[in-house]
Amino acid sequence: MNTRIHLSLAHMGGNEKKYIQEAFDTNWVVPLGPNVDNFEKDLAQFLGNKKHIVALSSGTAAIHLGLLQLGVGYGDEVICQSFTFAASANPITYFGAKPVFVDSEAETWNMSPEYLEIAINERIKAMGKKPKAIIPVHLYGMPAKMNEILAIAQKYEIPVLEDAAEALGSEYKGRKCGTFGEFACLSFNGNKMITTSGGGALVCSTKEQAQKTMFYATQARDNAPHYQHSEIGYNYRMSNICAGIGRGQMEFLPLRIGQRRKNSYYYRKDLANIEGITFHTEPSADFFSNYWLTCIIIDPKKTNGVTREDIRLALEKANIESRPLWKPLHLQPVFSSCPYYGEKISENLFDNGLCLPSGSSLTENDLDRVIAVIKSLL
Ligand SMILES: *Cc1c(COP(=O)(O)O)cnc(C)c1O
Repeated sequence: MNTRIHLSLAHMGGNEKKYIQEAFDTNWVVPLGPNVDNFEKDLAQFLGNKKHIVALSSGTAAIHLGLLQLGVGYGDEVICQSFTFAASANPITYFGAKPVFVDSEAETWNMSPEYLEIAINERIKAMGKKPKAIIPVHLYGMPAKMNEILAIAQKYEIPVLEDAAEALGSEYKGRKCGTFGEFACLSFNGNKMITTSGGGALVCSTKEQAQKTMFYATQARDNAPHYQHSEIGYNYRMSNICAGIGRGQMEFLPLRIGQRRKNSYYYRKDLANIEGITFHTEPSADFFSNYWLTCIIIDPKKTNGVTREDIRLALEKANIESRPLWKPLHLQPVFSSCPYYGEKISENLFDNGLCLPSGSSLTENDLDRVIAVIKSLL
């Protein structure tokens, strides 16, 4: 049996252990510490645009603390891209607030600016108040149409929290994803561009926001010699051990981006001209995707009836992991009562889309195995 090819695996550079060892040697085996400070510095330098980074226990925690500082509360609404992982919207509900879902546009597969504006107007009519925030997502690393989205956000004066969990290193008009919103979340889960074994970060626009984030992430302790609390806090800070892994990972980030992009081009070279296969690709030179995952759409009308699921099962039989695209959140049972604005763009992507193995450690031999299985069906 061939060895298993996974969708997206953690990929160590080598220096991770050195930074962890430093933490042990200096007994900084706690949340906070020099690895955390340096990891945050590395991220701030990488993203540019004078952002302030706070490393947290997960990307989900980052969204939670971002929404908290945007004033989301009980009975509020927050607009969220429907075509995404549930973690983009789950934190909205932690406040007793409600997600309002918006469809994608066909080019980037991300939030449709057109339906965003429709949703804002409809919600103002229905609720007598504006949604509290907008969460666009750069899905699979593809930048959303940020110019259009930001223009609408500014027109209605609604803040943007960017979900850049999958988009570390992606750029829109030469500017890094994660630097457009008032806040942005990053994720360092095991399968993302880089990992800290599990972790995330909140990208803040001001130093005050970063200090406030730190405050909430460490149980909201007031400035007093005893333990005094005037607000509800959380235990969300990243540990100095995890941040050590992150520091080692950051040294290889540009290489990892190059490797994932190379995967996408390698697949396209062999598969893009097959009738019925369409690749998720940058719509113009304004978009630079890290191609976290390479995704394809299968049109069974052009493949003699071969479906996405046929391909997924054939790959599985060859011990190759692939995955359907995200199921739109407005179709998820848990969100069935939430308003939705759009057509069927994201639904069609879900019906016919497949994520191919995309890890930065894949070899050409691995990619050739995937390509051979797909070619054998089409
Ligand atoms: C991974 C991911 C998150 C959540 O990040 P965690 O670190 O796993 O909590 C949020 N949004 C998207 C789109 C993601 O892919």
